[in-house]
Amino acid sequence: MRRSEVCLNALNRRGVYLEDLVECARFLHGPYEDIKDTTIAAVLIDILDKREVENALLCAIEMDELCEKDQYSDKSLQERVLHDDGLFGVDEVLAYGICNIYGSIALTNFGYIDKIKPGIIGKLNEKKEGVCNTFLDDIVGAIAASAASRMAHEKGS
Ligand code: MG
Repeated sequence: MRRSEVCLNALNRRGVYLEDLVECARFLHGPYEDIKDTTIAAVLIDILDKREVENALLCAIEMDELCEKDQYSDKSLQERVLHDDGLFGVDEVLAYGICNIYGSIALTNFGYIDKIKPGIIGKLNEKKEGVCNTFLDDIVGAIAASAASRMAHEKGS
């Protein structure tokens, strides 16, 4: 199975779909270029085919799901993850791993989308009993930010 399929299967299990990623990437890049959804989707698939992206994404989802199942051995850490403690920050650091592949535009876009939280990112960030998306919201933001960076560089080259 292609890495992008593995990633999309995991994302779908968590209620995130390719269209949601397209919407977030369009939010960032839309003001600079009139671009088709299918073009954005192709850029996103390319990003999801990268080994480093797959590894970060699967680790993030694993951390969220273990938290939901009450399976952290360190319950104090589990509480910090479950409540998305403002000073936790490891979720963002894992997401930087994706942005770092795509350069400075990906990093600045990530900071911006993490602040505004459009579409699915806002939904993932809503507090719901028994649900943990502490790591996933940042991964989704990082993938969208990376796609926007790729599109910016393709337009500029
Ligand atoms: Mg987070």
